Amino acid sequence: MSPLHMRKFGRTTGESPQEMHARIAWHGRRCQACGGPPAILIRVLAPFKELYERAPDTLTVMANSDPEHPGQLPIIPTQYGPMLRTSEIVACARCAPSAEKAAAHGPSWCLVEIDRGPDPTGKVSVGRG
Ligand SMILES: [Zn+2]
Repeated sequence: MSPLHMRKFGRTTGESPQEMHARIAWHGRRCQACGGPPAILIRVLAPFKELYERAPDTLTVMANSDPEHPGQLPIIPTQYGPMLRTSEIVACARCAPSAEKAAAHGPSWCLVEIDRGPDPTGKVSVGRG
């Protein structure tokens, strides 16, 4: 991003790229541990097939967990096949290390996706996390 673009960005919205990302992509959610400003979103995805074979009861529980859409599963098509979002956590910079550690302790067959938002140093990051 050019310095000119950066200035315009802040002037029109009054928020940093990080704040804008948190508002739009993370729907303004706060750190789930302490309520602080969000810095990271950790999403744990489980392959539908694995979950079906290993924990069919979990699928039933998940299908009935949303009262607005009973019987529906939050299936996300990915390059690794259909995945189910088993958890999604927003954490602030201070709580992020423990949240990341907790996510890493999930089953090895789960996929952990980490969204750190725009890099505050302004560098472009691709495929990080
Ligand atoms: Zn926190």
